[in-house]
Amino acid sequence: MVADALISRLERAIGTDSVVVGEEAAMAGAGGWGRVGKPAAILKPATTQAVSEALKICHQYSVPVAPWGGRTGLVAGGWADREIALSLEKMNKVEVVDPDSASMVVQAGCPLQAACEAAEAQNLFFPLDLGSRGSATIGGNIATNAGGNRVIRYGMMRENVLGLEVVLADGTVVSALHHLIKNNAGYDLKQMFIGSEGTLGVVTRAVLRLRPLPQSQDVAVAAVNDFSSLPHLLHRLERQLGGRLSAFEVMWADFYSLVTTAPANGRPPLPAGRPYYVLIEALGADPGPDAQTFQEALGSALEAGEIADAVIAKDQAERDALWALRDDVGQVARNGPVLTFDVSLSISQMQAYVAEVKAALHTWKPGTSLVVFGHLGDGNLHLIVGASPLDHYDVESIVYRPLRDRLGSISAEHGVGLDKRAWLWVTRSAEEVEVMRAVKRALDPMNILNPGKIFEVSVGGAAVFS
Ligand SMILES: Cc1cc2nc3c(=O)[nH]c(=O)nc-3n(C[C@H](O)[C@H](O)[C@H](O)COP(=O)(O)OP(=O)(O)OC[C@H]3O[C@@H](n4cnc5c(N)ncnc54)[C@H](O)[C@@H]3O)c2cc1C
Repeated sequence: MVADALISRLERAIGTDSVVVGEEAAMAGAGGWGRVGKPAAILKPATTQAVSEALKICHQYSVPVAPWGGRTGLVAGGWADREIALSLEKMNKVEVVDPDSASMVVQAGCPLQAACEAAEAQNLFFPLDLGSRGSATIGGNIATNAGGNRVIRYGMMRENVLGLEVVLADGTVVSALHHLIKNNAGYDLKQMFIGSEGTLGVVTRAVLRLRPLPQSQDVAVAAVNDFSSLPHLLHRLERQLGGRLSAFEVMWADFYSLVTTAPANGRPPLPAGRPYYVLIEALGADPGPDAQTFQEALGSALEAGEIADAVIAKDQAERDALWALRDDVGQVARNGPVLTFDVSLSISQMQAYVAEVKAALHTWKPGTSLVVFGHLGDGNLHLIVGASPLDHYDVESIVYRPLRDRLGSISAEHGVGLDKRAWLWVTRSAEEVEVMRAVKRALDPMNILNPGKIFEVSVGGAAVFS
């Protein structure tokens, strides 16, 4: 049988202990954040060479392979039902931290938090920060171009990767582990792989750009009376804080209420009753003067009427407590099943967009709840709709269609995976998708790498497991 011959060859190539099959493979995805199905086999190569050998064999057999990181992506990007999953979990080391070039070389399966801690031990800072930091891996962060809490200051993953090593579908290793900020010698190929959701190559190692470790952190929550004040407040803080603004997280009243009342652990740092609350963070180098500028910026926002009230954290415990409110996203599901969305659109369009979605949901089913929060400084909104998974098409239609005319995006964070594939047309033109398909065909003509994720292509690897 093809499947047996294939598994034997994979075992000989990368070692029996690196090939998991049967019930153990089928159950591996159970209980994690992301939906991955029941794989027929999971490959766990420990080196780039082993990844290459494994892909060469899968390519020969024309067998689909889904790369796996920490499986925290929520769009079924690692779906591998009765297919082969390739987990990078054994490639989990920080290889080098180089303070002189302010960079580090990290293996793809290294958890984000471990990479951040290794940088911090050398007084350096890797600024990517996600709620899933303990499980999400550097390879997954690269494959999804992850964003998170500090994008407003440091950019997304693509702004923080200097070099990359990837293995192509046929096993070719493309090693471009450059440490350069400037490299204009031809196409910047690494950018093509960043955000490609495992469809163009398997990321095995990366060179990450590091920054000086911040010495000051100022955090506040401010109450805001009207949406039109939010962009003014954002621009004031960017101006007055001299580039130190690192987070501008807006919580609509419903979200604030959920995370500050029992059974949530958080309590309101400011009284409820305002329509918007903003978590503001600035990172800097000089604690005393930085705290003063922070206070002055909030004071002038108060005078200008952009904020109605504010509370500034006095110590680390208070800073952590304010961040814990914003991070307590699990509360959104406490009143029943929800459908969650992360969309992107210009800040000037947000108020009208949220009003339109709210009205459409009420027309669809009166009383449907909508909870909103997001990284407003990056144009990224999270919408949480109180609806059953069975209603997903109706609700997706209400949430996604109004983005098209507003030139918004159906995905600000997790990518497209399988779940958002049907809605790609909202954000990408037919021509854009055709160029993406052409790139996919050029790098993976047999269509074995994460087939069907993001979009369909006409050729396909044959499934050998049934
Ligand atoms: C609580 C929570 C909070 C989150 N917050 C954020 C946030 O603020 N911002 C944000 O952007 N995302 C966020 N996410 C989503 C998720 O954590 C990110 O998308 C993360 O980057 C995924 O990393 P992972 O290692 O878990 O990848 P996985 O979920 O395992 O995989 C994601 C995709 O990448 C591919 N992939 C994984 N590893 C590789 C590799 N080595 N080579 C090639 N392809 C690969 C997979 O095939 C899949 O398509 C959050 C998720 C949770 C559960």
